[in-house]
Amino acid sequence: MLETRSLEVLAEALKTLEAGFAKLPAYEPEADLPRLRQVLGEVAERMRDNFPFFHPCYAGQMLKPPHPVARLAYMLALWINPNNHALDGGRASSFMEKEAVAEIAKLFGWDTFLGHLTSGGTMANLEALWVAGRLKPGRKILASEQAHYTHQRISTVLNLPFESVPCDGKARMDIEALVQILKKEEVGAVVATLGTTGTGAVDPLPEILELRDRYEFRVHADAAYGGYFLLADNLGDDTRKAFDALTLADSIVVDPHKHGLQPYGCGCVLFRDPTVGRFYKHDSPYTYFSSSDLHLGEISLECSRAGASAVALWATQKMLPYLPGGEFARSLGRCRQAALDLFARMSGDRRFRMIFPPELDILIWAPRGRKASEISARSERFFSAAAADNLHLAKFRYPASLLRDVWKDAVWDQPEVVCLRSCLMKPEHRDWADPIWAILDRAAERAE
Ligand SMILES: *Cc1c(COP(=O)(O)O)cnc(C)c1O
Repeated sequence: MLETRSLEVLAEALKTLEAGFAKLPAYEPEADLPRLRQVLGEVAERMRDNFPFFHPCYAGQMLKPPHPVARLAYMLALWINPNNHALDGGRASSFMEKEAVAEIAKLFGWDTFLGHLTSGGTMANLEALWVAGRLKPGRKILASEQAHYTHQRISTVLNLPFESVPCDGKARMDIEALVQILKKEEVGAVVATLGTTGTGAVDPLPEILELRDRYEFRVHADAAYGGYFLLADNLGDDTRKAFDALTLADSIVVDPHKHGLQPYGCGCVLFRDPTVGRFYKHDSPYTYFSSSDLHLGEISLECSRAGASAVALWATQKMLPYLPGGEFARSLGRCRQAALDLFARMSGDRRFRMIFPPELDILIWAPRGRKASEISARSERFFSAAAADNLHLAKFRYPASLLRDVWKDAVWDQPEVVCLRSCLMKPEHRDWADPIWAILDRAAERAE
């Protein structure tokens, strides 16, 4: 079940890599095979204690297996172990990072921009809000109540005031509520989430952008999860309009380690105006010697960063270019189709309560029930019953305030309800609709 045939390609590529260093005096590093075998065997045993993220029956959290080319390129790079802080630490991999990041920027129509990879979405969002804070010191950061918790925490780190904007019944930022806050507060940046972590909801970016000139705030798009869906050809109208408007945002975050087929940690932050690079200005007494080209450490808050991440991303883009209608774009469309298919099946079934159709590939639902406490208890049983049957889902606490108008007959004896959540991130999920449905069907009976 684990793909291992591709390992032979790694052995060949390592020979090619080694040939580049043939001029060096001979040197034979040691490898203690018996001990390696013993320890690695122990590691393999320990790693069995995981959910089967690589299998289509894992349909829970945001965990997508990296593409084989990403795995192999990452491993290949480890024999060099480059550090993309400076060209002194990773020359080839720094240039590959610049090329790979330019490919991501091109998705949003940006030819001139400032950007780099980060260890993940949290660090990427931190840099975006840090720049917003430098440009509009002391002003508030706004993000929807369904935005990632990281924005509020980052604001604390940056010592910037933060306020949450209420959502509408589709878990998107409520524009009326946003306007009310803008009328009375000094706002430095509004975070628009394109694909919330909980439900995959997409905030109305065009409407947020319309308010930008009047109230003079920056628009930061957190597309850590959703960014790549720009390439899908089966988005709904509102969702499509939001993605098309990304090109007008001031900064964008996308996580290649979410939907870009990369191993952890690979995030990316992009700024539309490259002159914000001035805020990063610093000197380093240790590095930046080997070249007068830009060292990525000069435009990044992190110092050491895995060059291997950039190499893996670059290789994946070579194999699966970001082209509309291409293989990568189609695979995202299939993920969304999987979520739509499952939504359609469940909507017609009285054993399930649905909330709204998926905007991307994240589906949330709850089992039937009248009281919030009863629905939550049944969700817990459903989750365990599905897991016992090898289908791994996720749980999500959803606020009653967003459900009152959707489930009009429900009784709200608690402020939140536990729902079930599936990130259908594998294109294979499309073909696994029947076996997944069969398990959901059994779990619904067992959860009674
Ligand atoms: C995952 C996610 C983050 C956090 O990114 P990490 O890579 O986990 O640090 C931020 N925002 C959104 C919308 C996310 O889905």
